Amino acid sequence: MRLPKFEYFTPKTLNEALALLKEQGEGAYIMAGGTDIVVKMLHGRLRPKSVIALQEIDGINKISFSPQEGLTIGATARIVNILSHPDILQYYPALTDAVKVMANIEVRNMGTVVGNLCNAAPSADTAPPLITMGSVVVLTSLEGERRLSLDEFFKGPGITAMNQGEIMTSVFVPLPQPRSGGSYKRISARCGVDIAPASAGTMAVFRDEICSDVKLVLGAVAPIPLRAYRTENLLRGKQWTHELIQDAGYEAAEESMPISDCRASAEWRKKMVAVLTRRTLVEAYERSKKN
Ligand SMILES: Cc1cc2nc3c(=O)[nH]c(=O)nc-3n(C[C@H](O)[C@H](O)[C@H](O)COP(=O)(O)OP(=O)(O)OC[C@H]3O[C@@H](n4cnc5c(N)ncnc54)[C@H](O)[C@@H]3O)c2cc1C
Repeated sequence: MRLPKFEYFTPKTLNEALALLKEQGEGAYIMAGGTDIVVKMLHGRLRPKSVIALQEIDGINKISFSPQEGLTIGATARIVNILSHPDILQYYPALTDAVKVMANIEVRNMGTVVGNLCNAAPSADTAPPLITMGSVVVLTSLEGERRLSLDEFFKGPGITAMNQGEIMTSVFVPLPQPRSGGSYKRISARCGVDIAPASAGTMAVFRDEICSDVKLVLGAVAPIPLRAYRTENLLRGKQWTHELIQDAGYEAAEESMPISDCRASAEWRKKMVAVLTRRTLVEAYERSKKN
């Protein structure tokens, strides 16, 4: 396998990268860790005219947390750095759940969270937990900056709401609400080197034993990470019982829209959605007791 020919740029500033992206036009691709884009190029699924690498740009690799505001993950912050961040472990355990099961150590050392989102695979592991946490992405172009809810970012497999000329410079994750808990779980045949055929992320807020708010996002069972609105409505405002959690699993399975492919059949995926939904709900509730 050989890489096709392309021009390679290593800008030192964000403005330089944005200017290059505009100048090169269609056919120019951004590269962060390269763990998705290089694989696609090697398999001939992508033939960029030019590749603009972000790794040498100062200041966009940071992960910053403030207990007043929340968490910001820069464009070139690596997955491995998420895993070792004490505040993420404490305040955003569902994101830690996701990065722990993602890929293998080599890929986690190179790959980025922002690259995982921009690649827009329906199975992207960081998407469900980040959507449930109300994350907002920052998209920067030569014209300025715009913010977009991550919920509105995914448009189809490999398709996003990003415009030509834009770079995702960071993702912002608000502080979790008091008495809230989050969880992310996936099923994978070959842990670490296989993408998930089904996953679920939950964030739920509790008032006494009532679920006052909830977000549920299903991965790999629709063209985009899927907000399970019907299941959320079933849970919201209800007394937290074993029966409710059971019913939520069935509803989420109904709501999912999986296909059959080499990884799993649609029927099996639906069954797994029910199982994963229930497991994340149980864990979210347990975790909410610590907040
Ligand atoms: C062996 C292996 C196992 C894997 N396992 C998993 C897994 O379990 N779960 C999972 O979710 N993924 C998995 N992946 C996929 C991949 O590792 C992740 O999606 C990773 O997070 C991608 O990050 P990156 O920085 O390498 O992205 P890159 O490859 O650099 O970029 C990915 C895409 O996003 C675009 N892009 C990147 N950064 C930006 C930006 N700042 N602004 C605009 N566009 C941008 C690029 O142009 C490209 O289209 C695996 C990959 C391999 C090779």
